[in-house]
Amino acid sequence: MAARLGLTTVSSLGPRKALLPLPVRLRSLLSVPAPRYPSHRHFYTSLSSPISPLQLVKNLSQSQVAMSASGSDPSPIPTYEKELAAAKKAASLAARLCQSVQAEIFQSDVQSKADKSPVTVADYGSQAIVSFVLDMELSSGPFSMVAEEDSEDLRKDSSKEILSRITDLVNDTLSTDPSFCNVILSEEGILSAIDKGTSEGGSSGRHWVLDPIDGTKGFLRGDQYAIALALLDEGKVVLGVLACPNLPLASIQHTTQNVGESGCLFSAIVGNGAWMQSLDEGSSPTKIQVTSTADPVDASFFESFEAAHSLHDLTSNIAKKLGVKAPPVRIDSQAKYGALARGDGAIYLRFPHKGYREKIWDHAAGYIVVTEAGGVVTDAAGNDLDFSKGRYLDLDTGIMATNKKLMPSLLVAVQESIKEQQQSASLL
Ligand code: AMP
Ligand code: MG
Repeated sequence: MAARLGLTTVSSLGPRKALLPLPVRLRSLLSVPAPRYPSHRHFYTSLSSPISPLQLVKNLSQSQVAMSASGSDPSPIPTYEKELAAAKKAASLAARLCQSVQAEIFQSDVQSKADKSPVTVADYGSQAIVSFVLDMELSSGPFSMVAEEDSEDLRKDSSKEILSRITDLVNDTLSTDPSFCNVILSEEGILSAIDKGTSEGGSSGRHWVLDPIDGTKGFLRGDQYAIALALLDEGKVVLGVLACPNLPLASIQHTTQNVGESGCLFSAIVGNGAWMQSLDEGSSPTKIQVTSTADPVDASFFESFEAAHSLHDLTSNIAKKLGVKAPPVRIDSQAKYGALARGDGAIYLRFPHKGYREKIWDHAAGYIVVTEAGGVVTDAAGNDLDFSKGRYLDLDTGIMATNKKLMPSLLVAVQESIKEQQQSASLL
């Protein structure tokens, strides 16, 4: 144990030996902007030894140093590769924690939020891990995260036991990764890592967007759920990672039963396609594509397992109008976006009950995985989704996703079905 006591929490990085602001000359050489954030975020793995300028260059992310092909334009072209590696690592570790909880969940692991929705030790633990890992792996640049959970309920006296369990879970999970095996987070460290997710997001700068467990109800049933992590840059989704521990690696086109090995990690960077790999360590990603079908008769569609999350009557009418023959495939979480992106089905329909406001963390990662796989994701009117408005998506009609060939007829079927639904509601 003593060997693991060397580190500290996110909030208290301790003696500032680790503070190593980027040398001014090097920064101007590489066109790296001066940091606009507290210098304690310059945290390097080797705390005691100074870092040479050469090492510093090596440590810089490609997104900071990539130049235009001609070499004459000094403005950096973001490639987001370092961010993607950090996001994959964070989501995979969070998935490991969630799997260990789902394997034997206790009644005491589940609490009810103010809106009566369930939250588990795994939701909090997953958020703490992702926040901590991103913070450690991306030691440069301001850090902002828009995430589902906050620590308010955990700070109550009645939550002492649950906080202690979350702290143990997070530390046990971190100890499985060689880069964090010397880390022990305190309870306060866990709370402050969770609270890094309270950003409001918006249209300027970079913001991570996290749903630590998307589909908590599916998680509690032992079904599908996802750790969904995306990056917004100037209001656009530029990177996304979806860890789906229970999604079979093989297509679920004809069955929702678990067949074969499970555990998928989807990822995408804007302009670089969509990829899938096993959640197993050392796996390699393969490129994925949405289905190319142009005939709705061959199409199958995904929707929420929970009828409270999407109007199953409306979606059934849309499918009928389109001529879709197959029954809906109902699964929880953004695993639906992942399955769509690799062509397991052709359409995803989501039409919440009136008054529900969609949150950006429920769609950002899935959105970029599907669009980079060649698909289209829009609201019910066919407009692109706008992630730049803060914590909520600015829409109240619904969301649909499919390939480019099917979108025009899907849009017509959706508009007609919504009109019919409104007409029959006005007759009541
Ligand atoms: P899904 O598993 O696709 O049904 O979506 C799960 C997500 O739905 C959760 O993470 C919630 O954020 C979100 N959600 C919660 N309540 C509702 C609701 N009444 N309508 C639509 N989505 C909801
Ligand atoms: Mg969610």
